[in-house]
Amino acid sequence: MTITKDIIKRLNKILGDKSVLVSRTDLMSFSYDATSNWQGMPEIVLFPTDIKQISEVLALANENSIPVTVRGAGTNLSGGSIPVSGGIVLCTSRMNRIIEIDAVNFTATVEAGVVLNDFNMELAKQNLFFPPDPQSYLAATMGGCVAENSGGPYGLKYGVFKHYLLGMKAVLATGEIVSLGAKTIKNVTGYDLPLLICGSEGTLAVVAQATIKLLPMPEARQTVLAVFNDVITANAAVSKILSRGVRPAKAELIDNWIIRRIEEAAPLGLPVDAEAILLFELDGAVETVSMEAAKVVELCFNAGATDVREAKDKKEADNFWTARRMGFSAIYGNAPTALAEDVTVPMDKLPELMERIKRIGEKNDVMIVTMGHAGDGNLHPCILTDKKNPEHYARAQKSTQEIFDAALELNGVISGEHGIGLEKRRYLKNAMPPEAIELLKKIKTVFDPRGILNPGKIWE
Ligand SMILES: Cc1cc2nc3c(=O)[nH]c(=O)nc-3n(C[C@H](O)[C@H](O)[C@H](O)COP(=O)(O)OP(=O)(O)OC[C@H]3O[C@@H](n4cnc5c(N)ncnc54)[C@H](O)[C@@H]3O)c2cc1C
Repeated sequence: MTITKDIIKRLNKILGDKSVLVSRTDLMSFSYDATSNWQGMPEIVLFPTDIKQISEVLALANENSIPVTVRGAGTNLSGGSIPVSGGIVLCTSRMNRIIEIDAVNFTATVEAGVVLNDFNMELAKQNLFFPPDPQSYLAATMGGCVAENSGGPYGLKYGVFKHYLLGMKAVLATGEIVSLGAKTIKNVTGYDLPLLICGSEGTLAVVAQATIKLLPMPEARQTVLAVFNDVITANAAVSKILSRGVRPAKAELIDNWIIRRIEEAAPLGLPVDAEAILLFELDGAVETVSMEAAKVVELCFNAGATDVREAKDKKEADNFWTARRMGFSAIYGNAPTALAEDVTVPMDKLPELMERIKRIGEKNDVMIVTMGHAGDGNLHPCILTDKKNPEHYARAQKSTQEIFDAALELNGVISGEHGIGLEKRRYLKNAMPPEAIELLKKIKTVFDPRGILNPGKIWE
């Protein structure tokens, strides 16, 4: 216990008692995230409504060496927002104002707790587009996505959060408020500090506001669905198609097991007999989209697809993408514990990675199902297990280790988008040279000398 009655009194004074939770039942909801194998109880949960309150909370926490774990919506898949050291959970959900949408300069400034989908709905009214689309966008917050450097299917053509981040207002561990970056598209003024905080998983600073760049909404979109008889051919098809000069906005893979679970939960028109499907979206000017869609159809057939078709209308296209978005819930809903990984390799290594994942599953006798953002080499092999069965869980963890080893041997990385958090911290030493890990730790000390921000994450 690091939080005394006196500190609770002072926190109540900063935030007002309607923004402070202390009962065990209330705290329970903040003890987990979207992973199914981690939990940790906070001692208190706070809901700041402005940056000044965050600053005062951090100053108090720092003075008393109280751990602070920031939480957006808790949808991350790496254990990132779990308060494993107890202390304070600082939840940004009440900081949900869109401060500015500047349609002339194509920028926006939002508070950390704005939900990505709410933001996109506002942008759509002005025909504007913010591409990074983690498939949790119905709940995920802008602050959480900055902290995880999230991306999604649109990553293939448009990149991820870091490619849009121009500036931020952040609060350092000491409570100091800093304005970093600018509103300009270009900026080379000293080190790029917003970029350093982006992807730092709540360990360097609390992001209170972010300024990001926007794009005009594409004029047209078309979805193409390609059916394959085996998952390796589907993976190999991706690089064959992209190497022919077409640049789809999205190229997503779903395997047969996941297709079936999605269709059982909500029939959305996916072909249940397909061993794997690739889902593409083309976007841009009407004529270009129609030409590129036809080209993708042809290239898919050439790459071994048994059936390929363009979505007949917007409703069918929306259904396919809803199905894709349901992937993780279909997996988590059908296994007591799922280890959802996000290894990423250079795109031409995808078939080999898939081959190795299959062999690892067979060798360790565990079920591994796979979907992912195949277009940017980012697969989600998910190992179905049960944490309450130690023998099976050990085989599942061994499989995780072997999948990471395979990705690293193929010049890949152990996380393309979910971050390290708790889930992958024991593998970090295999994934980064020791000097680089030392550099990470030194940077952490500069930002957070007492180590109060999200302790226990990224490294052991
Ligand atoms: C169904 C599903 C699909 C997903 N699909 C994708 C996907 O396609 N691509 C992808 O990249 N990710 C995906 N994710 C995971 C993704 O990382 C998170 O959904 C999202 O980035 C986290 O947002 P959040 O608001 O829930 O943050 P949280 O989960 O609350 O927090 C995530 C991390 O950020 C820190 N943090 C939160 N807010 C702040 C802040 N204001 N300042 C500093 N640190 C902060 C937390 O401490 C934690 O370490 C998916 C998750 C789910 C459940």
